[in-house]
This record gives sequence, structure tokens and C-alpha cells, in this order.
Amino acid sequence: MTPTIIRTLKELREVVAGWKAKGETVGVVPTMGALHQGHLSLVRAAKDECDRAIVTIFINPKQFNNPEDYENYPRTEEEDARKLVSLKADVVYVPDGEQMYPSGFATTVSVKGITQSLCGAHRSGHFDGVATIVTKLFTQTQAKKAYFGEKDYQQLQVVTRLALDLDLPIEVIGCPTIREEDGLAMSSRNLLLSDRARTWAPELHRAMEEMAEGLLSGGDHASLKAAAIKRIERAGFSEIEYLDLRTADKLELVEKPDKPTRLLAAAWLGGVRLIDNIAVQ
Ligand code: AMP
Repeated sequence: MTPTIIRTLKELREVVAGWKAKGETVGVVPTMGALHQGHLSLVRAAKDECDRAIVTIFINPKQFNNPEDYENYPRTEEEDARKLVSLKADVVYVPDGEQMYPSGFATTVSVKGITQSLCGAHRSGHFDGVATIVTKLFTQTQAKKAYFGEKDYQQLQVVTRLALDLDLPIEVIGCPTIREEDGLAMSSRNLLLSDRARTWAPELHRAMEEMAEGLLSGGDHASLKAAAIKRIERAGFSEIEYLDLRTADKLELVEKPDKPTRLLAAAWLGGVRLIDNIAVQ
């Protein structure tokens, strides 16, 4: 069954009201499109746990700190809709900018603390953009459960925090990162990599795995980090924004994985910014 494509909030509200009247539960999967198996794994989880699944596709200008990045972001709407057919997503909600930010729009949802480091430190305003759009999508879809990937680990923590803080009646569910066979975390941005850069890209994950293994066997944090950075740079990455070991809940910097921790990285390859993270515990 082809999912219904909805472009206006009015129509979305009508469809959701119909479901709710029948006592059906709604799951939402917020995305920016250019769907890959990572996104589709979230849709499967939503369909497994809820009566209805809404996939949202909105390339949110407010979360891009760089206009060129926004312009270049892959847009593949028809292909996206095709990919959702076999998963039996009920609705694909594709609002335009005017629907989401009508003239006079003046509200920002801003989460403090966990947004200060990592991507928040390197992408000014990014998490305000994420928090604002996610809050709107939660209220618009009235979903009971929302599915996010651990691939964007800091984002998952930010969204979990805001749902708690604002008493939103929604459960935020984190799902594992889906990877290509060579270990590269799936990402819409991988489409922007040249063929050559694509062959080098998995080195980021390999270097992180090597560093994690070293940490787990009691190795010295500083020397393991230096070796990982060397390996990532040798693979052709031009700038490593961060390669941090942090606590899994509050994202505080640590040097030893003696509690649940994550190793998180962001680095540039051939003009494309890639991020990844793995559990170290
Ligand atoms: P995006 O379209 O990049 O904004 O991502 C939409 C959702 O898909 C977010 O919750 C991401 O964390 C999630 N996602 C992106 N890539 C992956 C992946 N490789 N594995 C699992 N989830 C992912």
C-alpha cells in the first residue's frame, strides 16, 4: 500500500483525529529525507510498536548553520516515497517551509547543558533548530512514540530531555545505528562523498573501534586518541572536530570507560561532514 502523502497540517490533523477516534496509537519518525536503511529501521520499529506510523520529511533550514550545506542537502522525495511502500508507513508528512514557519513565527525551543559540547559547539544554533522543529512535529502528529537513531547520539539526548522537560506525552525511543558492510554509518550525507572519499570513509569507524578496544583493555586515553587521530587523518579526513569519550547519559568528558560511555566523533572528508559514535562499555 502506498503511504498517503500529506503536505498540510490541516489534513494531517484530520487523519490523526480519525485514527485517535478509533483508539489507534501513532508512532512518528522525523527525518530530513534521502532515506536509507537507517531511517527504514526506525519505520520498522514504529510499525512494530504502534498501530500507525507517520514518517516526516522536512529539511529544516533552522538546523543548518551553513547555507551551502542546506542547499546541497540531498533531496530525493519520489524515491523516498517508493522506499516506504513495502514498510507500510501510513502517512508521509512533507510540510513546506510556510507550513512549519509561517510569517511571524517567533518561538525557539532551546535545551541547555548537553547542547553546549560536541556538535552544539561546532554548529551554532543547530540544536535550537532541532529542538524547535521536533517539538512542533511532536505536537502536530500527536504521536505516542517517537523513533530516533543513536547515529545522532547527542540529538537523541537533546530530544529525550526536551520531551521530559516540556511534559510532552510522548516516549522517545533510541534505535541502533545501521551501518554499511564496511562499517560506515549510513547517512544521507554519504551520497555527497566522491567515489574515492567513499572508500576512505570507513576508516573513521575503524579508528574509533580500535581506540575503544584500547580503552577497554586499560590503555592510555591520550596515546590512544593520538593514534586514532593519526589514522583518521591518514585516511584523508581534513579536519577532526572532536573525538571524545563521554558518559552515555550526560555526555560528560571522561578518560576511562568505567561506566557506560560513548566515543563520539565528527570529521570532514572531501568537504562532507561525517559523524559517528559507538558504545564503550
Ligand atoms: P536525518 O534524516 O539525518 O535527520 O535522520 C533522521 C533520523 O534517522 C534521526 O533520528 C537519525 O538519527 C536517524 N538515522 C540517521 N542515520 C541512521 C543510521 N545509520 N542508523 C539509524 N538511524 C539513523
